[in-house]
Amino acid sequence: MVDEMKRVFVPSVVEEDGGTLGLGCFSTEEVAWQVLRAFLKRSEEMLLTKCSVVMWDVDRVGEEAMTVLSTMECKDCPVCSRRTFWIDLENFSALCHSSACSAWIEENTLNPEIIDCGWPTIRFLKQNKSIDEAVRELYKLGDRLRAAGISEQQKGSAEKMMDEHFADNED
Ligand SMILES: [Zn+2]
Repeated sequence: MVDEMKRVFVPSVVEEDGGTLGLGCFSTEEVAWQVLRAFLKRSEEMLLTKCSVVMWDVDRVGEEAMTVLSTMECKDCPVCSRRTFWIDLENFSALCHSSACSAWIEENTLNPEIIDCGWPTIRFLKQNKSIDEAVRELYKLGDRLRAAGISEQQKGSAEKMMDEHFADNED
């Protein structure tokens, strides 16, 4: 028999003014993540700086009762400029939670030396040698979109422009 320790999982977000918002207290990590992700979809409506999922052992005194499972930081998105780009600091990955954007950065699943980045709107995908390079690629993409004055309502023209651009610059 496994001696089951009672644990709870607590997702929370930190607002720009420093206030912490607890999102509830859950018996499984999975549900804690679901609640947090659902909340982050709305993060463009508020200014958030950080979020985390913390595990607490129930009936245990002191700091050891608390284990931080994951921390994410919120930055301005390199592509859409909204404050909705969530970066997971431990196992590096990043995703824009703005519904119209979803720009992302992730370690390549086969080769951890490679950092992938992408923007689903135009199926943009690029392999990079470092996280910095991946971030720069997304900024370049965002700059081009801004320079062309393209908004999400004009995805068609964005696709055309990017097709033209990347057709010339195939590695
Ligand atoms: Zn974005």
